Amino acid sequence: MIQLFNIKKVFNQGKPNEFVAIEGIDLAIEPHQMTVLKGPSGSGKTTLLSLIGCMARPTSGRIMLFEREITSLPERFLTEVRRNTFGFIFQQFNLIKGLTAIENVMAPAYPSGEHRGALMKRANQLLEQFGIIQKAHVRVEWLSGGEAQRVAIARALINNPSVIIADEPTAHLDTKLSLEFMEIMRRLNQEGRTILIASHDPLIHDSDCVRKVIEMRDGRIIKN
Ligand code: ADP
Ligand code: MG
Repeated sequence: MIQLFNIKKVFNQGKPNEFVAIEGIDLAIEPHQMTVLKGPSGSGKTTLLSLIGCMARPTSGRIMLFEREITSLPERFLTEVRRNTFGFIFQQFNLIKGLTAIENVMAPAYPSGEHRGALMKRANQLLEQFGIIQKAHVRVEWLSGGEAQRVAIARALINNPSVIIADEPTAHLDTKLSLEFMEIMRRLNQEGRTILIASHDPLIHDSDCVRKVIEMRDGRIIKN
């Protein structure tokens, strides 16, 4: 379970351009379920995901991750928690151009110092599982949208995360690929992974595998 207590995020604090992006949020995210954050652009969805995913720290408030308080962890522990717990899928997938599909999938595991052979084996299995093994050594800029999507999902899974965080994953996908994306999320959820998606795409909110939709506006939760 992920719990947020009175979380605030202020950008450029104390400066003329100070901006309160998250205005004191209390929230509990159930394990093994699919939760969607919805809300207009600028409502704070990405900021909230980055706090939950240990990519940034809140200005105040506490975050508990599976009974562990993470807000006060030193940087290196936070990095470790992030790597061991979360898999990230970004808008437009953020694949690294110039690298092949398999290199992209392996990238999040490099800091762990794991043996390259074992890592490559796991990456191959993931590409196999998503039906794109034949593209393993193709540079990602040559992949179709659907292939790039599956590489991005495989990359998110390389460290076997218990939580998958996806930020506007269908923003640049057509309906068919969006449905395919949700089908894969459903499968990962059935495997027991917790899924957290930020999106204002009705196709996502209306998916029957989504357990909870949390609505945000102006850095607050307006409906839970
Ligand atoms: P959403 O993902 O819902 O579109 P964001 O979390 O990206 O919203 O942004 C919420 C608000 O915080 C926006 O007004 C945005 O401009 C602001 N913001 C986000 N990141 C920064 C930053 N690094 N510095 C200053 N303002 C930021
Ligand atoms: Mg966003």
